[in-house]
Amino acid sequence: MTKQSIDQNHIWHPYSAMNSDLPVYEVMSANGVRLKLKDGRELIDGMSSWWCMIHGYNHPIMNAALEKQIKKMSHVMFGGLTHEPAIELTKKLIDITPQALEKVFYSDSGSVAVEVAMKMAIQYWHAKKKPEKQRFISLRSAYHGDTFAAMSVSDPDTGIHSLFKDSIPHQIFIQRPNTPFGESCSDEDLKELKQVLKNHSAEIAALVVEPIVQGAGGMWFYSADYLKKAKVLCDKYNVLIIFDEIATGFGRTGKLFACEHAELSPDIMCIGKALTGGYLTLAATLTTAEISTTIDNGEPGVFMHGPTFMANPLACTAALTSINLLLESDWKEKIQNIEQQMLEGLNICTAFDSVNEVRVLGAIGVVEMKHAVDMAKITKEFVDAGVWVRPFGKLVYLMPPYVIESEDLNKLINAVVKIIKD
Ligand SMILES: *Cc1c(COP(=O)(O)O)cnc(C)c1O
Repeated sequence: MTKQSIDQNHIWHPYSAMNSDLPVYEVMSANGVRLKLKDGRELIDGMSSWWCMIHGYNHPIMNAALEKQIKKMSHVMFGGLTHEPAIELTKKLIDITPQALEKVFYSDSGSVAVEVAMKMAIQYWHAKKKPEKQRFISLRSAYHGDTFAAMSVSDPDTGIHSLFKDSIPHQIFIQRPNTPFGESCSDEDLKELKQVLKNHSAEIAALVVEPIVQGAGGMWFYSADYLKKAKVLCDKYNVLIIFDEIATGFGRTGKLFACEHAELSPDIMCIGKALTGGYLTLAATLTTAEISTTIDNGEPGVFMHGPTFMANPLACTAALTSINLLLESDWKEKIQNIEQQMLEGLNICTAFDSVNEVRVLGAIGVVEMKHAVDMAKITKEFVDAGVWVRPFGKLVYLMPPYVIESEDLNKLINAVVKIIKD
């Protein structure tokens, strides 16, 4: 069997069919913002491997930190044991996230961090003698992950989850805020939320949202004012608010965390993706002392979750090193420059008949088409143009590593403009 046939016949890729004709490209190595393919071609990375690789690939400081840690230990169970990488990372996380968040639960992936957040909310209300508060409010076109509970709060249509509708909990979906980022939101935007809270708050544990940027469910940037008003409403009706910052965390929107655009501190926050600079899989769910104490004082007196690879020392080392690298860099200026360059460069696309809208926020540039693109065809065109851009549905988007030079970013932008135009 050739390598290609093993891949094609035996390995699933994300959201893919076994034995599909869609090409996958074999990567031999990656360095900085470049992926090196087996056939020798080099591609400029416009995806940061799905929001993660903020410092680029094969970073010498990241590599050195991991090599050092690997010689001490790669892993040790977290039940009854602890280690410096987890302790140092936790100190850093509670320092850089909103002030009220000071208790940290580590898990292996974003989806699990969302599951953990939802369990925390339910356990909290259970401990408060309100066990009927089990349901969640979520926004249409949200994406929170692929596991069952995470799926239950992800948009049922764009997430294609209708297939599982009888096996997942039924949550309450409300319209997404239509007011774009930078504008104050209308009463109309909050109408449905108000209604739902008024009628159902007795059974609702929390509102789950991706603050400011809805990612995989539509790449939509919405009003910070909406979040502020939603938080006030949730407080009023005794409903917790969970911010899923898995995509937005660590600078992507121009702030370290997207909730800073609204100057808000959620009750529970999920982080993942760029947490380790893309090196290893790690996620975390953060909450307040009030929530953790309430859970501790309730039945059964502990928080009921504990993954095998919880707080893996290598992953914690990668996270701590990545955060330090980010904070020591001029990341704000870098991201402002990326934003400016994408605004200027992608804006040309608004003139094309096939394009619905161009949106840019921080280091995220989106061209929304009028119709879904042919992913295999357009991906090949991008590869032939020397860039790695992977659209989905109607969305062609760029979210490059923050370290990208303006010349390389120009090549990414020009490829998008040219290929969309054709
Ligand atoms: C990617 C993502 C998740 C899921 O994370 P995984 O690591 O893929 O499980 C959850 N929420 C948001 C907002 C995401 O972008």
